[in-house]
Amino acid sequence: MQDSEHSSDYQRIMPLTAEVAVSGTAYSFDMLFSYAVPEKLAAKTACGCRVLVPFGKGNKRRIGVVMKLTEGDTARLKPLVSLVDEEPVVSEELLRLALYLREQTFCTYYDAVKTMLPPAMSVSTKETFRLVKNFTGAGSLSPAAAELLDRLACITDNKELNAVIEEHIIENGRRLPDELCDAGAMDSDNVFRQAVGDAAVRMVRLSDKYMSAPESFDLTPKQKQVAEFLSEYGSAAVREAAYMCGVTESVVKRLCAGGAAEEYEAEVLRRVEGDAEEKRRPEDIVLSPEQQKAHDAVLAQLHERKPAVFLLHGVTGSGKTSVFEKLIDDTVKMGRQAMLLIPEIGLTPQILKRFRSLFGERVAVIHSGLSLGQRLDEYKRIKRGDADIVIGTRSAVFAPLSNIGIIIIDEEGERSYKSDSSPRYTTHDIAKQRCAYHNCALLLASATPSIESYYLAERGAYRLLEMKERYGNAPLPEVSIIDMNLEREAGNRKEFSRKLAEEISANLKNGEQSILLLNRRGYHTIISCCDCYQPVYCPNCSVPLTYHKKNDKLMCHYCGYVSPPVDTCPSCGSKHLKNMGFGTQKLEEELSTFFPSARILRMDADTTFSRYSYEKSFTDFRDGRYDIMIGTQMIGKGLDFPNVTLVGVLSVDKALYAGDFRSYERTFSLITQVVGRGGRGERRGRAILQTFIPEHYIMNLAAAQDYKGFYNEEIAIRRAMIFPPLCDMCIFCFSGNEDISVRLGAEAVLRLMNGKLRELQPKTPVRVLGPVRCSYGRINGKYRYRIIMKCKNSAEMRGFIREVLTESAKLKEMKGVALYADINGDVGV
Ligand code: ADP
Ligand code: ZN
Ligand code: ZN
Repeated sequence: MQDSEHSSDYQRIMPLTAEVAVSGTAYSFDMLFSYAVPEKLAAKTACGCRVLVPFGKGNKRRIGVVMKLTEGDTARLKPLVSLVDEEPVVSEELLRLALYLREQTFCTYYDAVKTMLPPAMSVSTKETFRLVKNFTGAGSLSPAAAELLDRLACITDNKELNAVIEEHIIENGRRLPDELCDAGAMDSDNVFRQAVGDAAVRMVRLSDKYMSAPESFDLTPKQKQVAEFLSEYGSAAVREAAYMCGVTESVVKRLCAGGAAEEYEAEVLRRVEGDAEEKRRPEDIVLSPEQQKAHDAVLAQLHERKPAVFLLHGVTGSGKTSVFEKLIDDTVKMGRQAMLLIPEIGLTPQILKRFRSLFGERVAVIHSGLSLGQRLDEYKRIKRGDADIVIGTRSAVFAPLSNIGIIIIDEEGERSYKSDSSPRYTTHDIAKQRCAYHNCALLLASATPSIESYYLAERGAYRLLEMKERYGNAPLPEVSIIDMNLEREAGNRKEFSRKLAEEISANLKNGEQSILLLNRRGYHTIISCCDCYQPVYCPNCSVPLTYHKKNDKLMCHYCGYVSPPVDTCPSCGSKHLKNMGFGTQKLEEELSTFFPSARILRMDADTTFSRYSYEKSFTDFRDGRYDIMIGTQMIGKGLDFPNVTLVGVLSVDKALYAGDFRSYERTFSLITQVVGRGGRGERRGRAILQTFIPEHYIMNLAAAQDYKGFYNEEIAIRRAMIFPPLCDMCIFCFSGNEDISVRLGAEAVLRLMNGKLRELQPKTPVRVLGPVRCSYGRINGKYRYRIIMKCKNSAEMRGFIREVLTESAKLKEMKGVALYADINGDVGV
């Protein structure tokens, strides 16, 4: 067959093989599965299309994505069942990115791709069958198939027919139905149930009550299905939730009636068009000299069209957003696209409003507060090129833009940019990959950059840009540190110091606003024993229970356990129990007794889900309908309230000892950021930092808003102790139902690791620590251990980790024990 004409003929009839990322596979046996592309599908099948494939022994239908197409012998391969998409939903760039994700985060191929798609695209499939009339080939059927056909032929109702076949498949597999389809006796069709977009919709999300105590709800299986769906995707339109779960809307309604979920009006995609007053023009933004300088450096890079990373370190109130606005305007004027990532869903309305007023409908938004249909619509607008500016939280980094000019990560030091469920990616890394592909600029910005980023900037890997002045030369707030020990000595048992009380009352008199930060989630008070000093623990978790005044119950934040208040100590039987600790609820109570006329807004950032309703409260506060806002760290970041002149930090001491090497960094950043909320308008801000450890250097550096001083201290510690960024840290986390088996599993994996390391002799030093019990050794009834490996995140080490994960799944000690690996994740919990 050397003749060229023949060989090209030969190529034309060469069958196609699709390498497919299949849904629902376990990591330890995940790979690309090969399928033959049937001739009738050959013309349309492309990389990045979703397909339906037969999988496993029973040939159950599963959804997958075509990652590769190759020519070759397909004789021994199962064929694809059908195509879900006429056109690829994942671009070549994003397919590559999926491979990167899998390589870096140890997830399956399918999970990597799924992360990039809006949830409405993780379609649920339903197959329907129909008998072919006048079928004549019964003679060639196997006896069993002929018998099934006879049985089916007696059924007149199509619904019943499908029910019977479905039952048959569950019990006996697909062999006979497939035979009938192949012989032409029966047709099968796949209906892809996709949620549809709808502009004005009733939305549904889980209630805070359900989130904090799911076990206290008695749900029907169907309601449970809806609850699980909502907990995975955040929120959805009522119709969508019903549709995606295959239940009627009344199931969703009953879930709401029972208090587990709540309905609300979708309001996030409000348009600002037609609102003439709101319209702004990018040309009218005048940057300050400092802002201009930072802007020009990045703009020069945009013209260069080479990838580069900038770190913009700008003090709170320096006007980083104005720099973003200008750069995004430049980018779209160059015909390229822009992405702006923000750390919190609660910040979207404010940012979105600003950008819509400048760029109108060209702005698309992606986050989990939107209905599935809205998310799909926004996704499509981006994919079509109708929107060339994308704003969103972490997952927006995968937005299907095709010609990116700039990616901006605002408040880049926030931990929310690291995904803490599979795939455990870091947004920065994904952004860098996309920048390399698009030859574009990545701009990281914060008043308190992560130690990792600042380190890279210092070493010249990132270009450091600085803005040291607040916009309009407003001074930074004047911070006083209050020693709470002295307050106690003076007989003040209250949570707020005398100085803070004075300042609050001065603010009330002057009609100025105050923000009080109390970083203890919500209400709670810990119940502690006066005789044995033990707090009352959750029976499922190694976490103290907290007292909720609202329902007079003890609750566990981690598993939702609820019990009535106890009067005897579970450890020693003593009757001497006392309430300890202090939460926002109690603070509100104390404040309103002290300042009866004050209008107090309490923001309980207790669950992620209440974040969706923040917008209205924040707007009300900004519009002056409240005098004092109290809340947890949620209120501390990114928001701009010009009338706030007083910030009180009630107690962050405990956060310093959170048992994670990042706890100093987090605490410093939190104080600096919340103090930075004050004095952003005309009047100078004051801040009061209450602490029992006034001499601690973190308190002093935060009071001075001295990031550089903090960085120098911190990097010295990290260097001495060898912590990131001086190394990478892979955390292996084990969990299971029995303490002893989890520990034995972890120890077996440790032996496996040590053996493999001796063989491998890695090029860079590796230190393995543990296994130790996690800080919360038990959560939701699952015991948890971890092994920490300090190493270099190299291809060699990732290969090693992959092998450990795959081989440990086969260890007998690991039976019933779950394991994941997370590079540079959180050690804390
Ligand atoms: P940062 O995010 O750096 O803390 P912001 O972007 O919130 O600061 O800006 C602080 C305040 O200064 C905002 O009220 C903003 O409107 C104002 N501001 C900043 N830069 C400008 C500018 N170039 N023109 C007009 N107002 C500005
Ligand atoms: Zn006791
Ligand atoms: Zn618990």
